[in-house]
Amino acid sequence: MLCSPEELLQKNQALLNTWQRYQAVPSFESFVELAVSINSFTEFLIDKGITALHHASHQLEQLTLALFNTEVAHPLPQAALDDLNERVLALERMTRTHAAATADLAERRHDLKHPTPRDLRVSQTWLIGHDQAVWAGLQAQLGYFGMAAQFSAWEQPLPDSTGVAPLLLLDMSRLPEAEWCGRIQALRQRFAMGQLICLGVRSDFEQLQQVLRGGCDSCLLDGTPVHAIVEHIMELNERHEQEAYRVLIVEDSKTASHMIRRTLEENQIVSEIVNDPQQTLNALRQFNPDLILMDMYMPNCTGVEAARIIRQHSEFLSTPIVYLSGETNVALQVDAMRLGGDHFLTKPFNPVFLNAIVKSKIERYRALRRTMYHDSLTGLLNHSSGKNTLDMVLSSVAHEGGFLSVVMMDIDHFKQVNDTYGHPVGDQVIRGLSWLLKQRLRKQDILCRYGGEEFLIGLPHTDAEQAFAIMDRIRQDFAQIRHPDGDSHFHVSASGGIATYPLYQTGDALIKAADKALYQAKRGGRNRIHTDED
Ligand code: GH3
Ligand code: MG
Ligand code: MG
Ligand code: MG
Repeated sequence: MLCSPEELLQKNQALLNTWQRYQAVPSFESFVELAVSINSFTEFLIDKGITALHHASHQLEQLTLALFNTEVAHPLPQAALDDLNERVLALERMTRTHAAATADLAERRHDLKHPTPRDLRVSQTWLIGHDQAVWAGLQAQLGYFGMAAQFSAWEQPLPDSTGVAPLLLLDMSRLPEAEWCGRIQALRQRFAMGQLICLGVRSDFEQLQQVLRGGCDSCLLDGTPVHAIVEHIMELNERHEQEAYRVLIVEDSKTASHMIRRTLEENQIVSEIVNDPQQTLNALRQFNPDLILMDMYMPNCTGVEAARIIRQHSEFLSTPIVYLSGETNVALQVDAMRLGGDHFLTKPFNPVFLNAIVKSKIERYRALRRTMYHDSLTGLLNHSSGKNTLDMVLSSVAHEGGFLSVVMMDIDHFKQVNDTYGHPVGDQVIRGLSWLLKQRLRKQDILCRYGGEEFLIGLPHTDAEQAFAIMDRIRQDFAQIRHPDGDSHFHVSASGGIATYPLYQTGDALIKAADKALYQAKRGGRNRIHTDED
C-alpha cells in the first residue's frame, strides 16, 4: 500500500464526519459535502490502488450521486438513510481491517536487512485453475521477475497463508460459466484487498460482464500471450508514486476562487489562485500547473482572451484549460473551445463533476508528458531524460557527499537474437531485462533505456564494489531466464561496465568511462561485468 494505515483511517474519518454532520443537519448543502467526501475517498483509494475498498466506496458514491441528481427533499426517506448508514459503516469496518492488516505487513517489511527493491504492491501471487501444466510457462516467467506464483486447484480451498493482499490469477477457461460469478464473489469477499485477474475469458459481452460483476479487477482474454500476461502483472505491481496534481485557478472573485480551491483540496489537488488575469503568465511559470481553471468573465480581460495569450507561449501550448462560467450561450462556448479551451463547466458547478473533469484532463495531460520522457517499449526513462536525471542526481550526490556508480549494460550478440527469432521476440528480451532491472533496483536508482539494447543505470550512494555485486547478480539471473520461442526456449546474456563518482566528476565522464569498461567486458568474452578499475 502506498499510504500509511493512519492516512487511510484519517481519510475515512473525514467521510464519517460528513455523514454525522448530515445526520445532524440533513440539508442539501450538507449532503453535497457528504457526496464530495465520498468522492474524495473513492479517488484516494484508486490513487493508492486499494481495489477492494474502492469497490465498496464506489458503490456508495454512485448511490449518493443518484440521490444528488433527483432533487429529493432532505432529510432523505428513512429507507434511504438506513441504506446509506449501513454502507458507510460497512466501508468503515473494511477500512479498519485493511489498515490493521497493512500495519502488520509494514512491521514485517521493516525487518528486511537488504536495501529495499522497488516495492511490490502484492504480498503473494496465486494461480487458481484446473491444470497446473497449462500455466507452467507463465509461472516460470513470473518467477524470473520475482513474482513466483503458487498453484492451487479450484476444488481445493486456499490456505490461510495467502497473505493479506494476494494477487490471484484465475483460470476461468474450464470452469462452468454458471459458477463464475459466485466463485469470484467468494474470493472478493475473502481477499478484500487482493487483486483478482481472470485469465482465459472470451471477448464476448456476457462473459466479460459476468466476471466484472463478480468483482474481478481485470480480465486477460483467451489467447493473450504469456509475455503480455507477465507485462500486465508487472505493470500492476509497479509503484506509481505520483506527485500531487496542480491546478491554477484564474478567477477574479475571491469567494469563488476559494470555494474552488476547497473542492480541489478535498481530492488532494494542489492549487494556486490568480485573481488578476494579468498575473497569469508569471503564475504559470512559477507554479507549473497541470491544468488551468479559467473564469470566463473578469474585469479588463475575458477568459478567452487570457487563453489566447497563454497559447502564444509554446511551453503552455498543451496545458489543459477548463472554463468556469455562468454563461449558457452556446455560441460563446463554442468560440471558447475553439480558442484553446478543453472543457466548459457552467456555474454553479457540481463539485464532484468538477473534480472528475479536472482529474481526467490532468491524467491525459500527464500521460502525454510521460510519452515525452519515457521509452515506449520498456517504460524506462528515454535517452535524453536519463542523461538529464543522471546530471540532477549527480549534483545532489556531490552536494551531500558520497558515491554514485554508473553502469552501462548491453545485451550480448543481440543482433543474432533478432536474426534467429525475429524482431518481436528481440523486443521481448529487451523488456525482460528492463523488468529484471526494475524489480531488483531501488526507487532512487536511475533506469534508462539508453539505446536499442543498451541500458544506463545510476546507483546513488553505491561504491564500485557494491555496484559490481548488485549488477553481477542481475547479470547471472538474466542469463538464467528461458526466453520462450514456440515450444522451445533460448538463453541470452548481457555485459556491463561500471564507473564511479568521485573518480569521474561529470555525467558525461561517467558514461564514457562506464562505456569503456563495457567494451572491456565485451572483449573479455561477454556475460560479465567490469569496473573501470579492472
Ligand atoms: P554485442 O554483444 O557486441 O553487443 O553484439 P550485438 O549483436 O548485441 O550488437 P550490435 O550493436 O551489433 O547489434 C545490436 C542490435 O540491436 C542491432 C539492432 O538491429 C538491434 N536493435 C536495436 N534496437 C532494437 C529494438 O528496439 N528491438 C529489437 N528487437 N532490436 C533492436
Ligand atoms: Mg468573474
Ligand atoms: Mg549488444
Ligand atoms: Mg549495443
